Amino acid sequence: MDELCYEPVHRLAQRLAAGEVSARELTQAFLDRIQALDGTVGAYLTVTAELALRQAREEDERRRRGEPVGPLSGIPVAVKDNLCIQGVPTTAASRLLAGYRPPYTATAVQRLRRAGAVILGKTNMDEFAMGSSTENSAFRTTRNPWDLERVPGGSSGGSAAAVAAGEAAAALGSDTGGSIRQPAAFCGVVGLKPTYGRVSRYGLIAFASSLDQIGPLTRDVTDAALVLEAIAGPDPADATSAPVPVPSWRESLTGEVKGLRIGLPREFFGDAVEAAVAGAVRAAVERLVADGATAEETSLPSAEHALPAYYLIATAEASSNLARYDGVRYGYRADADTVEGMYLETRKQFGAEVKRRILLGTFALREGYADAYYRKALQVRRLIKDDFDRLFATFDVLITPTSPGVAFPLGARTEDPLAMYAADICTLPVNLAGLPAVSVPCGFVDGLPVGLQVIGRPFAEDTVLRVAYAIEQRLRLDLRPPVGRVAA
Ligand code: GLN
Repeated sequence: MDELCYEPVHRLAQRLAAGEVSARELTQAFLDRIQALDGTVGAYLTVTAELALRQAREEDERRRRGEPVGPLSGIPVAVKDNLCIQGVPTTAASRLLAGYRPPYTATAVQRLRRAGAVILGKTNMDEFAMGSSTENSAFRTTRNPWDLERVPGGSSGGSAAAVAAGEAAAALGSDTGGSIRQPAAFCGVVGLKPTYGRVSRYGLIAFASSLDQIGPLTRDVTDAALVLEAIAGPDPADATSAPVPVPSWRESLTGEVKGLRIGLPREFFGDAVEAAVAGAVRAAVERLVADGATAEETSLPSAEHALPAYYLIATAEASSNLARYDGVRYGYRADADTVEGMYLETRKQFGAEVKRRILLGTFALREGYADAYYRKALQVRRLIKDDFDRLFATFDVLITPTSPGVAFPLGARTEDPLAMYAADICTLPVNLAGLPAVSVPCGFVDGLPVGLQVIGRPFAEDTVLRVAYAIEQRLRLDLRPPVGRVAA
């Protein structure tokens, strides 16, 4: 059964449809694997075993009765712990939300369920999705299945590690500045950040609302298309969800790249990027060129301002979004003699990084400072968007490394916030411009996976997935990490 845990969703769906395995057996296999491995990997904060087995039995029943089933019927998936599921602990890895059980379910999770998926549990993350290594979780350490002394990336590190280690067939994450793509790169899985507005954010615990997007982390590109098809589409409960139809993205996975125009913005291949990582990305691009694509060096000059602009906009929005955690309405409440004392003692429970962001954001929005910081950052955001628009007049996609390096050792950057923030320099501009982008594995450096990022025009998920698929088909990498092989 352990081998099934490494199979992509589309293959498992065939087995389930053919009756080779039942949803219940498959779910039990994943639960057994979580039991065997997760003490080491630490991908999950909550495992919903009973719920999962009940959902699996329901899917089996449906099939037995000959009723129509959804495209993900019986597929065991994991959900990042900042997505609300009714009655299931949802903490965003924060002490502030310890014990919180939401009264409603996020639209993306509802849609997964409607497609027939089985929910295995909630995955670890950086507190309120602020971080790049999952080390800002208040509750546990998640380890990279490729090297247990290294980080899985973040903030969706639990989701990435769970998929990589075969502890879930697929997972949902959220991406504000790279939190799906960067951990996907570090763990050797596929991670897709959809266009802003493509997936409803209803039920996602907000970090920076103008940047946050929900998306899939999967074992291959076909699965990313499959999961995105299930969760995408307009939603009356999220006013920023776009009224754009949901195509069949699987149909765009042709492997064909003839005539494709690829731009390689030099700012993403410079000194800040490890040479071996840049080399692996360039080598993958060469494979596409050999099959009829063209690749040309280009420039995104505003990219160098993305990091400061992001850390002003994201922290400003976060300081406002996190004001609601006052001990009155959700989760944790401290004891104190006065109301003010209760607020103070409650909010002391935020971790150091979250406190740093609230301070930065409050400062950036202060009367008399907002013009110099917050509004200036919004202008830079506009420049970045214009730069991308200009490049997309010439190129169909832009290709960059997903992160400037491979997974770094646990603890290596926890004392140095700027070094931590630098792990996202390739992904942040994409969020500021609201574009779709996917990270696909493109090789290894020192035995650790390297991610390649494909960036597309707004709502061109079909193109970014097509290019990622073309790379995947040409490289055919073995992406089973050693931790899984040992246990298998
Ligand atoms: N690492 C970035 C940050 O800490 C992005 C996080 C995210 O995408 N949620 O803000």
